[in-house]
Amino acid sequence: MTATDRSDPPGTDPVEVAPRMADLDGLRSAAATCTGCELYAPATQTVFGAGPSSAWLMFVGEQPGDREDLAGAPFVGPAGRLLDTALGRAGIVRDEVYVTNAVKHFRFELRGSRRLHKTPAVSHVRACRPWLDAELRVVRPTVVAPLGATAGKALMGSSFRITESRGTVLDWNGFALVPTIHPSAILRMDPEDRDAGLDALVADLRVIATAGHEPRP
Ligand code: SF4
Repeated sequence: MTATDRSDPPGTDPVEVAPRMADLDGLRSAAATCTGCELYAPATQTVFGAGPSSAWLMFVGEQPGDREDLAGAPFVGPAGRLLDTALGRAGIVRDEVYVTNAVKHFRFELRGSRRLHKTPAVSHVRACRPWLDAELRVVRPTVVAPLGATAGKALMGSSFRITESRGTVLDWNGFALVPTIHPSAILRMDPEDRDAGLDALVADLRVIATAGHEPRP
C-alpha cells in the first residue's frame, strides 16, 4: 500500500452528530470516534463525561489528564481524588454528580517519554463544544460548576475571571452556574498553602450544595 492509498475511516463530526443524540450512551458512543479537531490523533481515547443522567450537579473541567486518557474516564487521577475529598467535606454525594470536561481528548507535549499537560487552545474548546452542549441538554443539571479558567471561559466567554467569580451563583442559560477552581490548581500550590486551598474549594462546594436546593431557574 502506498501513502496515497491510505485513508483513515471517517470520524464523527460533533456539529452534525451531537445535537441528534438523545441519551448519554449514544453521545458517549458517538464521541468515541470524534475527529472534530486534531487532538484525537495523539491521545489514547475520548474521555467522555461520567455520572447519572439524573445528576443535579455537573462539574466541567478543562480536559482529561494523563491518567484519565489511559483509563478513559474523567477525574480518576490525583485531581479527581482531591475533588472527591472536597465533595465529602461539603456533604455532596459523589454518585449524584456528573463530571465532564470542556475538551474531551488529552492535549499534551512529549518530554522524552513523559506526556506533559498542555492547555487546550480556544479552537479545541470550540470544536468540542457540541458534546458539552449535548451533555447539558440531556442531563439538565440544576447547577453547573466550571472548574478553573478554561472551563469558565468555555461557558462564559473570554472575559470570565475565576478569581472574580468563584463561589458566586450566576444565572446562565437557565442554569445556576457556580465557578470554582480546578482541584489540580491546589495540587500545584506550595505544600504550606494546600490546606487553605482545599478549605476554599470546600467553601465553594457548600455554595453549590445550597444552590442545588433552590428551585430551578
Ligand atoms: S477534543 Fe473534542 S472535538 Fe476534538 S477530537 Fe476530541 S472529542 Fe472531538
